[in-house]
Amino acid sequence: MAQYAKSPLMGQMMSQPLLISGLIQHADRYFGDSEIVSRRVEGDIHRYTYRDCHMRARRMANALGKMGVKMGDRVATLAWNGYRHLELYYAISGSGAVMHTINPRLHPEQIAYIANHAEDQYLFFDMTFLPLVEAFAAHCTTVKGFVMMCDRDRMPPQSKVPNLMCYEDLIAENSDKYDWPVFDENSASSLCYTSGTTGNPKGALYSHRSTVLHSFASVMPDALNVSAQDVVLPVVPMFHVNAWGLPYSVPMVGAKMVFPGPALDGKSIYELFEQEKVTFSAGVPTVWLGLLTYVGQNNLKFSTFRRTVIGGSACPPAMMKTFRHQYGVDVVHAWGMTEMSPLGTAGTLQSKHADLPEEQKQAILEKQGHAIYGVDMKIVDDSGKELPWDGKTYGNLLVKGPWVIERYFKGEGGNVLQDGWFPTGDVATISPDGYMQITDRSKDVIKSGGEWIGTIDLENIAAGHPAVQQAACIGVFHPKWDERPLLVIVKKPDAEVSKEELIKFFDGKIAKWWTPDDVVFVDALPIGATGKVLKNRIREQFKEYKLPTA
Ligand code: AMP
Repeated sequence: MAQYAKSPLMGQMMSQPLLISGLIQHADRYFGDSEIVSRRVEGDIHRYTYRDCHMRARRMANALGKMGVKMGDRVATLAWNGYRHLELYYAISGSGAVMHTINPRLHPEQIAYIANHAEDQYLFFDMTFLPLVEAFAAHCTTVKGFVMMCDRDRMPPQSKVPNLMCYEDLIAENSDKYDWPVFDENSASSLCYTSGTTGNPKGALYSHRSTVLHSFASVMPDALNVSAQDVVLPVVPMFHVNAWGLPYSVPMVGAKMVFPGPALDGKSIYELFEQEKVTFSAGVPTVWLGLLTYVGQNNLKFSTFRRTVIGGSACPPAMMKTFRHQYGVDVVHAWGMTEMSPLGTAGTLQSKHADLPEEQKQAILEKQGHAIYGVDMKIVDDSGKELPWDGKTYGNLLVKGPWVIERYFKGEGGNVLQDGWFPTGDVATISPDGYMQITDRSKDVIKSGGEWIGTIDLENIAAGHPAVQQAACIGVFHPKWDERPLLVIVKKPDAEVSKEELIKFFDGKIAKWWTPDDVVFVDALPIGATGKVLKNRIREQFKEYKLPTA
């Protein structure tokens, strides 16, 4: 960790470390009766308050102590968004141990790899994951016990899982008298492995300081803009970069929290939105696709839903327009990554934009947005030279800030920084007034005749066609140009469109040589563990594809 010079005259304010336990203490003291509502894996709706959550987190912290969990020990979870998962967020990190959230959509072998790499001491899981845990438990070399997150009467009479304990027993058997320990704010608080489309997943190890600072920054008006007046439903899973920090930032502001559990289909989400008067939500575009389809097909409206943050992959402008114009829901397009806790930028307007025509406002909002204070960014060429902010020149996007990774857990991948900046692997432009736009992941960029074609633009245009449900664009081999764009399309149910019509749809919307050479129609796109389209899988599928132009 970097060391800095000390002034002979130091400030004289209280030196109080920024600790995660402080967030739940604050929520209890000032918003104690605010509700936390969860759709449980058991199928019912559970409700209680921040005060209850804090009390049960203290009981669990006592249980962890008795189980021998010490400061710095990793404790894993395999769970949906729900109140017990939230309790663990506070019990584990608050007591000085490290909350390691594992993505249950991964293959059992990958889960065992991650648990062993992290040296997890215990693993807590939602009861629906019992078969999954049975599949990998024997391969976990460091886990001393498994805790099923349910009541005693839901426990299996017998199981292959060694040392299987019941969550509610631990809660019932332990006292709620617990003083959150005070320690160095740079201590590790939680661990999250990157999705790892190539090679083994690598761990991003957050600290209490980075997490609390990220929470402060993320609730700001031009970031997520969350307040005590909101009812927040995080669709983004608590096992994917800490649900973009919402389990920390929502208690920080005392907003009512609504957890969807495993039911992420359009109907279930819509019903919860309406029943609980949700005002704000956050998720990846694929989830919103399901919600918008359900709402559209059933001719429904949202009564209270007013704002959503969309990120994780590029939000198609057509989706943003549907939300805004058809349903009156503002979309904040945000960008970030596991290595950034995850928030880096958010797209909002400024006072100087107030009189712009609607189309120009929309064009600004479609970008990934402005750096949130705390994050700095730049674009560079392959030799590391900084490139101009002209909104046209694109280059490798580098970032730094107090919630940006310095190195991966256990030094995997070696020194990842470039002159103190973290290379994101994304390619972007930055406008003169600081709005960043991702053109692609560097490994997805199409290299055509020595020039680059960004696939996100092409996908966004295709997604704007009324017959298109989802679009992905990949580069396939071309004997003259090396690579040319192939568009892979999922049509809307009952919609029809021809290849020729789709290719013509690009006329005038983009440089002619960017136009896709061909279109293929598929039933579905492969979606990865974090809800993103798996481009590498599509490239594999069409690796032998012969373009008509070849
Ligand atoms: P992850 O670490 O799994 O959250 O993935 C981070 C990556 O997702 C980023 O490096 C981007 O490539 C992509 N990503 C996240 N948000 C956006 C966005 N708003 N637009 C385009 N790509 C995004």
